[in-house]
Amino acid sequence: MAMIVKFWGVRGSIPTTAQWARVFGGNTPCVEIRAADGVFICDAGTGIRELGRDLARRSPAPKAAHLFLSHLHLDHIQGLPFFLAAVPDLRVHVYGVSDDDTSRRRLLSGELGAEFFPQNVEQPRASLAFDQLDDTEPCVIGDVRVRSLPLKHPGGCHGFVFEHDGRKVVYASDVDLDAGQAGAQERTATSDVMTLRPVPRALLNAARGADLLIVDGQYNDPQYRVRVGSGHSSCLTATDLAIQADVKNLALFHHDPDDRDSDVETKVKLCLARAAKLGAELPIFAAREGVALKF
Ligand SMILES: [Zn+2]
Ligand SMILES: [Zn+2]
Repeated sequence: MAMIVKFWGVRGSIPTTAQWARVFGGNTPCVEIRAADGVFICDAGTGIRELGRDLARRSPAPKAAHLFLSHLHLDHIQGLPFFLAAVPDLRVHVYGVSDDDTSRRRLLSGELGAEFFPQNVEQPRASLAFDQLDDTEPCVIGDVRVRSLPLKHPGGCHGFVFEHDGRKVVYASDVDLDAGQAGAQERTATSDVMTLRPVPRALLNAARGADLLIVDGQYNDPQYRVRVGSGHSSCLTATDLAIQADVKNLALFHHDPDDRDSDVETKVKLCLARAAKLGAELPIFAAREGVALKF
């Protein structure tokens, strides 16, 4: 049975309603994966609001959804209260990786409290269940296997690998692929195309052969060099990761909130040119709100 991946929010850091971001979309991260009759969601940025409305319209309406939170930065949780209000009959299982499960529960409960989110106490909303993930132990939900792995990002972050019926989709938003790699400054200064850039070994192994790799490609090389430490990647290093992992499709994700549609398109062209020079035939595109892909 196929896996369907739909992008509901693709923008990093803060949503934008600017006219110049209309093509790729201005909502913050949310990706839906449908597999084996299950609904799996990566992150609860503002894009999840429209997903909630969509789920409420489906027939039959799903009884449960599985929400995987990469981390708790605001752009990855800010749509949650609106989502829960849109799907009052849904049971939402929230998965995350942290040393302290109670802190995730406490922080999200705080976000849903009256101090942060005006609500009528009578208003029904979806119920939440919290599940703790362990990087060493895949979790199996129905016929879908989900693994988590740590990513280099300030405060910590996790990527997720979804596998079903021989297909694999990898979600790795909010990661600095060059963090800790010796010589990264020099490599991103020259954009040398003769050598593939070193990338994190765990993510490389996790992504190997994936049908789709969704990965942070927020910056071009010059942007990366002036924003080292903010925890995001050059789209060219993301391309090198995809080539080395031999993935079948690469989706650049977490677009910079200041990037116009034309800037995003330029990044895709840069990546395609780099892949061509390296002899890789790799479909590369920028994640775009509203687009659904089938694998
Ligand atoms: Zn983010
Ligand atoms: Zn973040």
